[in-house]
Amino acid sequence: MMKVALNICTLVPLLFATAAEAQVPGVNWEQQKVEILRHYRALVQIDTSNPPGNETKAVEYLKKIFDAEGIPAQTFALDASRANLVARIKGNGRKRPILLMAHTDVVGVQREKWPVDPFGAVLKDGYIWGRGTADDKDKLVANLMVMLLAKRSGALLDRDLIFFAEPGEEGDTGPGIEFMVNQHFNEIDAEFALTEGGRATLENGRVAVVSVSTTEKVPRRVRLVVNGTSGHASIPRIDNALVHLSAAVAKLGAWQTPMRLNETTRAYFEGLAAMGPPEKTARYKGLASPERAAAIQQYLAEYEPQHYSMLRTSVVPTILKAGFRMNVIPSEAEATIDVRALPDEDVPRFYEEMRRVIGDPAVRIEPLTAGVRPVAPPSRLDTEMYRALEQVSKRLYPGSTTLPTMLTGATDMAFLRAKGIQSYGIGPASTDEDNIKYGAHSDVERLPESSVYGFVEFTSNVVTEIAGPR
Ligand SMILES: [Zn+2]
Repeated sequence: MMKVALNICTLVPLLFATAAEAQVPGVNWEQQKVEILRHYRALVQIDTSNPPGNETKAVEYLKKIFDAEGIPAQTFALDASRANLVARIKGNGRKRPILLMAHTDVVGVQREKWPVDPFGAVLKDGYIWGRGTADDKDKLVANLMVMLLAKRSGALLDRDLIFFAEPGEEGDTGPGIEFMVNQHFNEIDAEFALTEGGRATLENGRVAVVSVSTTEKVPRRVRLVVNGTSGHASIPRIDNALVHLSAAVAKLGAWQTPMRLNETTRAYFEGLAAMGPPEKTARYKGLASPERAAAIQQYLAEYEPQHYSMLRTSVVPTILKAGFRMNVIPSEAEATIDVRALPDEDVPRFYEEMRRVIGDPAVRIEPLTAGVRPVAPPSRLDTEMYRALEQVSKRLYPGSTTLPTMLTGATDMAFLRAKGIQSYGIGPASTDEDNIKYGAHSDVERLPESSVYGFVEFTSNVVTEIAGPR
């Protein structure tokens, strides 16, 4: 049984503990709020905007805490200003470790868009406002608190707990996840990882859905390049590079790539169908019916573009470059196409399909290497960790549905999965509206104060569920 230092747990009823299931830590969560808020605010107040990052400042804050608590913690740095931090609480070795990973960097801000100081961690209207409040300092503080509570309990767990704070998640993975996976993998090797990538959806003040990401699409971007004859724009040419490129971009933009489900997305849409209401049930169930699927996909393309993307390898034109003067035919035109492949996509074959759709030998397809991440199979739904995530969701949020999800974007879980770590993306509770308007990378970022506490409790419960002690 994990206990807080004050042993206040004896005053608190152990809500869900039965002989048959892992015991919930005897933590008085009300009492943890002050410390959670203090660390959370302090971390948000450390400006780790990337670029340049300066994540070492956050690492120094965290390391001081671990040192004071007697938890062994070590830094690993490819670049001194961008250190990684790994802390470990040893278990009894009966089972393999759990990795608790979060990134310390945040995306930059446009200060004029903020009603408050973006690095003030201001408390207002029940929210904590600031860059990183939802991405990713909420996970960072949850992981920190799980470590502190585990250590203070004095219990010997069935698994090592590894805390890993990584720099550079927002766009430059070199000094963070890549450095650690390639040069210090032993330090972070685990059976399971918990990190960003999921969320709990609040509806009418209750958690309705707990999304756990178990896989993600794979960036496989390409450049289309056309060369033609340059010349005076008063004389039209049939090899005009811009004309050939435009036609190719238009064809790719209109191409409905084939739909395909995998274990995660099948479970996801089945779960959504089971939740209702009837018109949604009919829609998600209809995806499996060959006669109805086409109309449903058209609907999704218009009204639920994220779901449309989850069903396929997507092809999205993002950059056009051609021409420099109005009276000169350019000799080269190029476009960037953001291809996001399903995890099991045969990419060379897919590029061949693109070539067929374009149907113009003048257009060359050049794969881009920047931003390529490793491909790995989805994390499984039959693991002890996934079951724990379901159990704890049911317990803490009665009536909620847990759904495995495939992210359309890319995360650092790709590197962990490629090394065989079953990795699950989780996150705190927010309304859909808040998530869109004030979520990760929004002009203004904030999180309900109560969601931070709830998320720490959720993470702690999940870890206890599979690391014991029983
Ligand atoms: Zn993030």
